[in-house]
Amino acid sequence: MAITTVPEEIEEFAKRAWYDLFELYGYTDILNQLRQVYPDTRSMNVSFKDVSKIEGFADMILAMPEAMLRIGEDIIRKDYLEKGILPSDSRRFNIRLVDTPLKDTFIEIRSIRSNNIGRLVSVTGIVRKNTEVSPRLQNAAFECAFCKSIIYRSQLRGRLEEPEVCTNDECPSEGKKVKFTLLPNESEFVDVQKIEIQENPETMEGGSQPQRIEVIVEDDLTGQ
Ligand SMILES: [Zn+2]
Repeated sequence: MAITTVPEEIEEFAKRAWYDLFELYGYTDILNQLRQVYPDTRSMNVSFKDVSKIEGFADMILAMPEAMLRIGEDIIRKDYLEKGILPSDSRRFNIRLVDTPLKDTFIEIRSIRSNNIGRLVSVTGIVRKNTEVSPRLQNAAFECAFCKSIIYRSQLRGRLEEPEVCTNDECPSEGKKVKFTLLPNESEFVDVQKIEIQENPETMEGGSQPQRIEVIVEDDLTGQ
């Protein structure tokens, strides 16, 4: 998946670490129960205390949370929840980290800088505003103009990302550039909502103005 491009050895380490974590610390029981209610329920809390028991894994999650969570979520969907389900029917699953260590992640909203980008952070404050919940394209389905096969491409926020070439081995385009058409009805969307968090004035030094940050929440965290 384009969204989680990490070096292969890091991906291998992360996969091993997630399997160990699920199997050693009681998560397989939770996942077996989840299978009965998935995808109506599609999130699972994972304690950072358990993450920390696996050598080297906590640092990796702090440094690249998005890629690491995506690897764990893929494992859960494919190996625990969706056995026998076609990839085109696959649904989202969310790992929600809890018990994150404040000493490693906490930051005042006013102190957030470019070196925090991509890393795991925790903030506290008051929710001041929230927008309507709206759908965002997450896994886009494209039809190849030559062979009509459907190719899925996961999407980041912003510009629509199309496949470069058709991945159907039998496609007459033979790996050359082709035109793709987006198929909204075959695509997967996720609910998103923007919220604005303001620093809690009570915890601030006298005189300074509380600052705000915009946060995007996804899927079952929206509309709460
Ligand atoms: Zn094709």
